[in-house]
Amino acid sequence: SDATLSLPDLVLRRAAAFPSAPALVDAATGRALTFEALRAAVLATAAALSSRARVRRGDVVLLLAPNCVLYPVCFLAVTALGAVATTANPRYTSREIARQVADASAKLVVTVSELLPKIADLRLPAILLDGDGGASAPSDYASTVTLYSDLVAGVQETEYRRPPTRQSDTAALFYSSGTTGVSKGVVVTHGNFVAAATAATSDQDELGEGRNVFLCFLPMFHMFGMSFVTLAQLQRGNTVVVTARFDVDAVERHRVTYLVCAPPVMIALARHGTGGRHDLSSLRCIVSGGAPLGKDVMEAVAEKFPDAAIIQSYGMTETCGMISSEYPLKGRTREFGSTGALVSEVEAKIVDAKTMKHLPPNQLGEICVRGPNIMRGYFNNVQATEFTIKRGWLHTGDLGYFDERGQLYVVDRLKELIKYKGFQIAPAELEGLLLSHAEILDAVVIPYPDPEAGEVPIAYVVRSPNSSLSEVDVQKFIEKQVTYYKRLRKVTFVDSIPKSASGKILRRVLKAQVRSSKL
Ligand code: ATP
Ligand code: MG
Repeated sequence: SDATLSLPDLVLRRAAAFPSAPALVDAATGRALTFEALRAAVLATAAALSSRARVRRGDVVLLLAPNCVLYPVCFLAVTALGAVATTANPRYTSREIARQVADASAKLVVTVSELLPKIADLRLPAILLDGDGGASAPSDYASTVTLYSDLVAGVQETEYRRPPTRQSDTAALFYSSGTTGVSKGVVVTHGNFVAAATAATSDQDELGEGRNVFLCFLPMFHMFGMSFVTLAQLQRGNTVVVTARFDVDAVERHRVTYLVCAPPVMIALARHGTGGRHDLSSLRCIVSGGAPLGKDVMEAVAEKFPDAAIIQSYGMTETCGMISSEYPLKGRTREFGSTGALVSEVEAKIVDAKTMKHLPPNQLGEICVRGPNIMRGYFNNVQATEFTIKRGWLHTGDLGYFDERGQLYVVDRLKELIKYKGFQIAPAELEGLLLSHAEILDAVVIPYPDPEAGEVPIAYVVRSPNSSLSEVDVQKFIEKQVTYYKRLRKVTFVDSIPKSASGKILRRVLKAQVRSSKL
């Protein structure tokens, strides 16, 4: 990767190669920004933020909006000023948003009118991405509200001088998903993004596939959606079709070639395919990432999409996106289950979580990662940073192994392992088995305190609508496939399973409910 480029320059230089190709497309309206229009929009927005909203180098700007074409435009514009973009889930409550604004010391918020009531008390100046010149801010909003269209109207790119950006400058402050606890602020630099974005698309360069069309429905406030699905693809010259939720129609209408998903959508695709009503023949590749995905789900998706490569990727907020990815090759006959090989420039090793000794292939241990994509650290949290990055190696907290061919398998999170006497049980393994049952739509496995064993696995299961599956049926189904200590001690049927916006099972929510015996 180019060691001198800033993140926005990495993306904007594509305007020279593909000026009139579509860069960002609104899935609903079909309206497109070409690469040249994207370049102009980012520079105009940066100029307006600088001259009219007084955003300075180092200032933190909160992006709080559902996916839309202007989202990455504003993200890149903020970073072009040497300012820092922080992104939050638009479904956060006022309290959660207030916490992030305070933690990140955000000075300005870029949002949509619908969300203004949630941030009314924060007294932050706001820029509204939606609404026309006639709209006015709700009277209870205490600070200035500027429409984006007014902000950039008639602005000259010359109204500001681009400050020089070093790769070590902070570009963004992302917050981890909060799957295992309170989400942590992750400081990512321009250099992290440049390395991550180029590494994530190097296999496409080898394949020489030409321009691809990606659908971005994964949230752009999350690292996977922003770094891999959006920024990496734009800098490769691919088209990103933007929507706020998964939309099969959009795949058909925009002839999408790459669909990037988290496990919940993979599970839905495995069940229903396209429902038969859509022509999805444009799809070349379906990528899953963000949480463990069982082999059976992968196989079922491959059945339904015989012309596409079904692959897994592994990454985290702290690595600015991908650590490993499978090579996009078709074939139902190949073995599913790995998350592929390390992406370029990323190194990894497996260590014994207790002794920190380096382990050989096929032995399970903690995955540790090193490379130019590793975060600078957790924001304002030296202790957590020192705990996580040791001697340059990022300790992922994930359990996994390499096979002899260098394929990385991610088993589960160390924190989530169920401790049965001297044994450890990975909930993801049992969940994968449960999902392979034709009458089980979704499942989660958590530990339950047991006086003798310490912990035993129990499951919450969503049955298909007309299923008469009983607790004993489910227990027997698992019993046949696993050793004695992995047997499910209890199975409870529920209507749905709590998941985060990035598609992860919120086991801590269930564990808390079990503790307060609400389940
Ligand atoms: P928090 O750190 O706040 O508890 P989080 O770890 O879920 O939340 P993210 O950075 O969004 O926040 O997720 C990264 C984690 O997701 C990884 O550490 C790993 O546990 C999991 N993950 C990502 N991709 C995969 C994959 N392909 N297979 C298994 N697990 C994955
Ligand atoms: Mg994490």
